[in-house]
Amino acid sequence: MSKYIFITGGVISSLGKGVSSASIGKLLQLHGISVNIIKFDPYINVDPGTMNPYQHGEVFVTNDGIEADLDLGTYERFLDVETSKLNTNTAGDIYQTVINKERKGEYNGDTVQIIPHITDEIKRRFTVFKNEYDVSIIEIGGTVGDIESLPFIEAVRQFQFENEKNNIFNIHITLIPYIKSSYELKTKPTQHSVNKLREIGLCPDMLICRSEYSIDKSIKQKISKFCNVRENYIIEALNESSIYNIPEKFYKQKVDFLIINNLNLNKRKEIDTNWFKKINFYNLRKRIRTIKKIRIAIIGKYSKFQDAYKSINESLNLASIEEINTELEICYLESENNNLISLINNFDGIIVPGGFGNRGIEGKIKAINYSREHKIPFLGICLGMQCAIIEIARNLAKLKNANSTEFDKNTKYPVIKILDGQKNIKYVGGTMRLGHYESEIIKKTLAFNIYNKIKISERHRHRYEMNPEFITRLEKEGLFVSAYHKKVLPEIIEIRNHPFFLGVQFHPEFITRLEKVHPIFKEFVKAAIKFSSIKK
Ligand code: GLN
Repeated sequence: MSKYIFITGGVISSLGKGVSSASIGKLLQLHGISVNIIKFDPYINVDPGTMNPYQHGEVFVTNDGIEADLDLGTYERFLDVETSKLNTNTAGDIYQTVINKERKGEYNGDTVQIIPHITDEIKRRFTVFKNEYDVSIIEIGGTVGDIESLPFIEAVRQFQFENEKNNIFNIHITLIPYIKSSYELKTKPTQHSVNKLREIGLCPDMLICRSEYSIDKSIKQKISKFCNVRENYIIEALNESSIYNIPEKFYKQKVDFLIINNLNLNKRKEIDTNWFKKINFYNLRKRIRTIKKIRIAIIGKYSKFQDAYKSINESLNLASIEEINTELEICYLESENNNLISLINNFDGIIVPGGFGNRGIEGKIKAINYSREHKIPFLGICLGMQCAIIEIARNLAKLKNANSTEFDKNTKYPVIKILDGQKNIKYVGGTMRLGHYESEIIKKTLAFNIYNKIKISERHRHRYEMNPEFITRLEKEGLFVSAYHKKVLPEIIEIRNHPFFLGVQFHPEFITRLEKVHPIFKEFVKAAIKFSSIKK
């Protein structure tokens, strides 16, 4: 029998439910228990692919081509599992499934309602991994008490009623705010949130309390009394310098032990605590005297909202674990900033990430030009590669005003364009070139040095491509296409005589794992370290 851990959130959003779910999953995994995590998002969008990154952060892409919540990236990195369509659910896609069934007449004349039809579909999705994993962690997005999350919480209630209690464990994540004027941590919002949950019929077995300050015994006693949760099941979750420290913090409070006991789980081994040491690189660094600092600039449109570049951020941070005496500073620069060039002069590496639409494009092209000419390590991801091709076309091949047809439909030199398959798109959602595609790398290139193999498989999310008609012309001027999909579509570009200038049409950041950082980020960080030492 499969076991289920339900994770709900209260008081406010953004309490780190995704990281908590992944950290708990990791602890169970370290005991030899197999785990997968399923996310439920209560919004009506069928997937986050059509949402502005300011509202939702990065859109993560799975191997099977699903545009998903960024928490799936956290699950993949922590657990080293491959997520898919089965790991991500939204109210929109659940309603769409039910409505499609209704249109096909599959409800035999029933009035289709939230209870039971929507809740049945939600419950069906709770069990998709029941035969494959020992434990399914089910993270319900949103905040308890929201109208839109009600059908999900109701589905959890029904599921618990229909299954045995010792197969189910409820965790509620809340906030204990600190009130400066009275120097006090306040438990009332948590009490209210748990009350709300109990009103709907769910009793938490464990509370994870986010707080800026340590939660002492008297506070735990109070929460325990009002919320009906035993004191040792009240877990403190303080702000951490790295999210990778959280599994250890939970372990020290016996979160794994309590869950394993309650669910009667069969642990196959004890946790090797060396794992925590390996992951806790910030602590390791504190002990080293000579720390070099390198600075990487990410030049994009959402510079004030770093969640928009979450997987890139994590890939860089994790790549720097291996460079133990180097501290990495990542800065986000607005591509429309008029002083961009004078700013990037202070960096040891430049990344132009993926993106859509015209805004900020010319700034990105200027920054790429500067890093090409001044030999600053450069990595262009998806749109970043497309901008690098435009820059080379304009400035090396002298194709005046060369552009992507995404930004200038009538450009004389469409070096980036939409190819046939993408021309007659009816819906924008879910119709890009999505998910993993294979490509082949050409030997004796930077790309080959990085991967050290020919066949690679990487995740994509784009509509436009390098226009194959321009390959020969641009290759004469110094650009080199070092990987192709099916021998025709350019997947990686580079230039000669530069320490690191790489553009990739795919998103390497999506396949970085905690202990398997994508080689592109590893080598890029190495190149930045080298650049910084030459500069000095
Ligand atoms: N806007 C570009 C395209 O659709 C790049 C997309 C991206 O960077 N993910 O092809």
